[in-house]
Amino acid sequence: MIELLQSELAEIAAVRIAVSESNFNSWFDKSGIKARFKKACMQQQRLRCCYCRKFKDTTNNNEWDLEHVLCEQWYPQFFATPGNLAVACKQCNIAKNQADVLLPQPRPDPRLEELPIESHRYSIPHPWIDDWDAFLSHVNYQVYRSDSEKGLALIKLCKLNKIAVEEGGLNYDTVAAAVKTEFFELVDNAIDPPPLDAEVLERVARLTDNLQELQVDARLRALGRTLATLARGAAKRTAEQAVIEAGRIACNEGLAEVSASVTNLVQAQPEPIDAYPLAAPPAQGASILPEPSS
Ligand SMILES: [Zn+2]
Repeated sequence: MIELLQSELAEIAAVRIAVSESNFNSWFDKSGIKARFKKACMQQQRLRCCYCRKFKDTTNNNEWDLEHVLCEQWYPQFFATPGNLAVACKQCNIAKNQADVLLPQPRPDPRLEELPIESHRYSIPHPWIDDWDAFLSHVNYQVYRSDSEKGLALIKLCKLNKIAVEEGGLNYDTVAAAVKTEFFELVDNAIDPPPLDAEVLERVARLTDNLQELQVDARLRALGRTLATLARGAAKRTAEQAVIEAGRIACNEGLAEVSASVTNLVQAQPEPIDAYPLAAPPAQGASILPEPSS
């Protein structure tokens, strides 16, 4: 799982107390924190979607979606919680949409404060808690199979067999039910001309994987350098700057009251703000964050 930097946590805390939940979310979406975090996820996930595992040969933030495992609509409190975030491809993110994957259903407590970290609380394999390979296998990232309820739930939710299903003209629910044991028999009968033998497809998939791993390594080396630069930039920011920025956001969005309260917070320095991880008030003009460790 990716962690946020200390300076980013302080920045988030400062903005959280300054603006409303929806404004906080739109701020986070545009923030450098989210941009850096997405890149860190790309590195950790080796440029593979957290759900379909397809490799994407790019580190461009616009090409990846930041996926909220527990979706924004039902669990806004986990909008910026690292354990709830991973990068996904656009197809999977669109297919999953606002589906609620927390168990048991119906939701017992939509306002729960702690992000659940137990595998059994999720209806699909969780990007950070579960081992994807323990739940699913695939052939050339087009035909996915699973022997588990969780794996089948993911196949269905993210429409992982979409290409095979659409090209074969099959009914999606039929395929979702059949992938467990008889998918190839079903495809053999339904697609003309028949697809290659499953074993040949699997060999091609392995070769493709090997080639992709070489591409991934090259991309990740460059990504590592970008991340180091982004982390240094984030560490230089102070929480005071974050508060000022929060005020600016509030001002831009026409939130006069919030803007005024943020201005008060800034002017109240060097009084400590509860949200800051500080033992004592900082000296006048000093950074109110601990010195960056690097
Ligand atoms: Zn995907």
